[in-house]
Amino acid sequence: MRRRLLVGGAAALAGCAVAAPARPAGDRRHERLPASYPDLLVAVDDDTLVWRDGTRMAIGAGLPARDFETMLRSATIADQLRQDYVSGPLQGPPPRDHSPGRLRNTAFFERMYGDCRRGGTARNLRSVTWMPRTHPQALRVTTVNDVATRLERVIAALEALPDRLKAYLVPAAGSVACRAVADTGLPSVHGYGAAIDIGVGQSDYWSWSRRRGDIPHRNRIPFAVVEPFEAERFIWGGKWYHYDTMHFEYRPELFA
Ligand SMILES: [Zn+2]
Repeated sequence: MRRRLLVGGAAALAGCAVAAPARPAGDRRHERLPASYPDLLVAVDDDTLVWRDGTRMAIGAGLPARDFETMLRSATIADQLRQDYVSGPLQGPPPRDHSPGRLRNTAFFERMYGDCRRGGTARNLRSVTWMPRTHPQALRVTTVNDVATRLERVIAALEALPDRLKAYLVPAAGSVACRAVADTGLPSVHGYGAAIDIGVGQSDYWSWSRRRGDIPHRNRIPFAVVEPFEAERFIWGGKWYHYDTMHFEYRPELFA
C-alpha cells in the first residue's frame, strides 16, 4: 500500500525502525484537536493544524509509527494522539511502552503555553490554592485553556472526598517548574504550568525502581483521587507504562 508522506523529514523517518504498528488507514484522531483546544485552534485542514492566529503546523497524520523511544524524543502532532488514554479505574498494568500523553510535540505545546526558558509562560500563570480546607498551598497554574479554573473545580471535588484520602494529596509536590523530562531532555509539561504533582509520600515513579528492561508497574493511588482530575480532562501518569503516579496534566485531546 502506498503511504502518503509529508514533504520534509519523510526520508529520515522512512529509515527509522518501525516497531509499533502504523496508524490504521482513516485514523482521524487528530481531528479532535480544535474541539479540545477551542480557544487556540480553529481547524484541521487536510494534514495541517490551523491556529486562531493563522499559524499552520504539519500534523504528520500520514506518517507511520516509529519505535516508542524515537517518538518520545521527536513526536509529531499526530503521535500525541497515537496511544489511547482510557478514563476510569486502572485495568491492570499498562502494556509495554503504553504511556498515553508522554508523546508530546514540543512546538505544539510551546506555541500553546509559551517557552518557560524564554519567560514565555510566566505571564499566563496565576495562583491557585491547593486543598484550601485540608492543607492550603499556593500553586501557580496557567490560565491558558482555563487550566487554572479547571484545577479549582478538581480541588473542590477532592476536598469533598473522605478525609482518609487526603493523605494522597497533601502536600502537593508542585505545579510549574521550568525543567526537562529526565529521560528525554525535552521540556516538561510542568514548564507550561499545565501539570501538577500531588503528594509524593504515597506515589511511585518508574525510574525510582528501574531504568532499563521491563518496568514492573506500581501504584498506591486510589481511583477516587484520580476521578475528579479525569472529569476535567487531566490525564494521570499512573496509567503509563513509565508510571508517574503523582502526575496529572491537562490533555483534553486524549479523551475520546
Ligand atoms: Zn509531574
